[in-house]
Parts: sequence; C-alpha cells; structure tokens
Amino acid sequence: MAGAGALALSPGILRIRPREKPVGWAILGIGSYARNQIMPSFAACKHAKLVGLISGTPSKLETFGEQYGIPKSHRYDYEGMDAIRDNPEIEVVYVITPPATHPEFSIRAAKAGKHVCCEKPMAPTAAECRKMIDACKAAGKLMQIGYRSHYEAHNRRAIEICRSGELGKIKSFRSDHGFNIGRGQWRTQKALAGGGSMMDIGIYSLQALRYLSGEEPVEVSATITNPPNDDRFVDCEDDVQFTLKLPSGTQCSGGSGYSWRPGKSRFEVVGEKGTLLGEPATPYGGHRLYLDGEPLEVAPNNQFAAQIDQFSECIRSGGKVLTPGEEGMRDIQIIEAIYASAASGKPVRVPA
Ligand code: NAD
Repeated sequence: MAGAGALALSPGILRIRPREKPVGWAILGIGSYARNQIMPSFAACKHAKLVGLISGTPSKLETFGEQYGIPKSHRYDYEGMDAIRDNPEIEVVYVITPPATHPEFSIRAAKAGKHVCCEKPMAPTAAECRKMIDACKAAGKLMQIGYRSHYEAHNRRAIEICRSGELGKIKSFRSDHGFNIGRGQWRTQKALAGGGSMMDIGIYSLQALRYLSGEEPVEVSATITNPPNDDRFVDCEDDVQFTLKLPSGTQCSGGSGYSWRPGKSRFEVVGEKGTLLGEPATPYGGHRLYLDGEPLEVAPNNQFAAQIDQFSECIRSGGKVLTPGEEGMRDIQIIEAIYASAASGKPVRVPA
C-alpha cells in the first residue's frame, strides 16, 4: 500500500551514526529544481554529501562545481558520465532532468554501479519504469523516486490522522493540484514530459490520494478538457478530472490543471467525525493543515533533506526505501489508465 510504508518513518527517528561516512551523491541535470531545492538541502543532511555533478552544460559544471566545492575530477558531461563507475566517492546519482530522459540516465547510472534516485514522474510509460527497476535490481542497487511529500511533516501528520480513526469512518478523499503554465517549456511537450498536467502536477493529487487512503485503486474513470484555441495545449493535456475506485468503496477523486489561476495544492478528507484539509498541501514550504477548520500546529521540516537522508540511511543500513521505483511505476500505471479512460469515455481497470 502506498501509505503504509510512510508510517514507518517519523521525522527525527532516523538512526544517527555520526562516525559513519556520509553517502556520496551526484546530481544529474542542474536545472531549476536541482539548483533551488535539492543542492542547497545537502547542507541540512545528516547522512549524505554532494560530491559530484553531471550536466550537459559546461558553464553549469564550472559555476556550481566551484560553488559546492566539487573537484573537476567529479564533474561529468552526459557523454562521459559512464566513467563514474571508476569514482567510488559517487554512490548515488540523482536524476533531475525532464521525464523522457529519466530511463536512459537512470539505467546508465545503475549500469555504472550506482544507486539511483529519480525525480517524478518516474518515466513516460510503465514499461520504461519496469526497465529502470530491473536495471537497478540487476546491478544490485537501490532506487528511490523523489516523492518529497512522503518525507514532509504535515503530510506525515495527515497520514497519521487518517489512519488513527480520529476522523471516524472516512466518506471521501479529494485532492487537486494545478497552476497556470507559461509557454515554451518542456512541460507542454509530450515527447519530453510524457503527458501534460497529470504527469507533472496531477501526480501530487494521485500520490496524496494513495498515501492518505492507504489503498490502491482498482479502476479509474477520467475526463480531459483542453481549452480551445490555446496553443499551450496542442501537444499535452490541460484539465484532468478523475475518480479512483478504492477496494473499500470510499469516494476518491482528484484533479489537475495547467490553466488554473491562482493555482491549487490541496487535499480534503471528509469523515463522519471530522474533516481534514491540507492547503497548501504539497508546496516547497508553508504547508497548512486544518482539522474541522482549526489550524493544526506541525513543526516544519526540510522535506528535501529528509528524502535524501532516508535513501542514504537505506544504503548504509540496508533498510526499506520509503518511495522505491515500484511506487513510481504504480503511479504511471494508474496515469496510463486515466489517459485510457479519458480517451475511451469508459472506466478502465488498473493492472494488478
Ligand atoms: P528545468 O527545466 O528547470 O531543468 C531541467 C534540467 O534538465 C536542465 O538543467 C536541462 O539542461 C536538463 N536536461 C537534460 N536533458 C534535457 C533534455 N533532453 N531536454 C531538456 N532539458 C534537459 O526543470 P526542473 O523543474 O528542474 O525539473 C526537472 C525534473 O525535476 C523533472 O522530472 C520534474 O518533474 C522534477 N521536479 C520535481 C519537483 C519536486 O517537487 N519533486 C519539482 C520540480 C521539478
């Protein structure tokens, strides 16, 4: 189950072994998310160290190599990245490039003998996800998907509340994520993004529904609506509305959009005894959680560092990865069913 593993980790209970060498990470793809969220978060990690960079842009290798004190011997371009196999200090490669490039880079990293952390969405198709998982397994390496919300304090608290019975019998789960996208980005090019809003931002709605309910949907129904005469949506979808059929029969629905103003990041769980609202639910910071309209006090944590540390802990101790490749593949299988349902106008079963 998506959420069950999430309860196994509570912020602050990671076993700290100060004399153990931190796990060496290399970042592959120095774009916006890598530069602004991930690379600065290594300073807050207890078990990980940024030791390498892989980029297609020489000036980025130079600038960020200097900024993070990474020697020239630990900087690689894409053509030369397979040489990381001879660099024992690099133990993990964190792939932070557009989704269609994730399979190739992840598989090359695994073949070079490295553990792989890969950003969401894992890959454009479930078949590619399977190949990535198999490549890591064949190399005897672990895989993590960058689902940071599993490691974030407010989302963890929300999972606990949903499991505790505090809300009474739960009647419905709902989650919506969307924003207004600009023109000319890879996110609106299907060949690079794998899809549109559902792949990029709707995956947060799907994830929230899975980790809050702790259930795996067996069937989906979906509709896709694209505004006419908007050239952002010639190649990818805008608005997606979907319903997930859960084994328990509890109502479960979500949405995503690329033309939503001012944007939305939200989940709501309605129970017979109370209602839990997260809004904003999955931002980089400034999360808010409300029980029956009253704000809940939750100490914020660095979700990026917590994610990196949990994987590093697993590498050192052999523990269970909270968000493994299988978790990423499950989402892509469900998203494929969502696209198929929207295309056919009929409910579609999710593969078992
Ligand atoms: P970005 O456009 O800012 O950066 C993408 C990077 O990939 C750039 O450095 C670019 O040069 C490089 N790249 C390598 N091959 C490329 C190719 N063939 N085409 C285009 N660029 C290529 O994007 P971003 O926002 O940093 O997103 C990167 C990845 O991180 C995506 O998978 C995205 O979904 C994910 N992401 C995750 C979160 C999160 O909260 N977990 C947030 C933002 C982005």
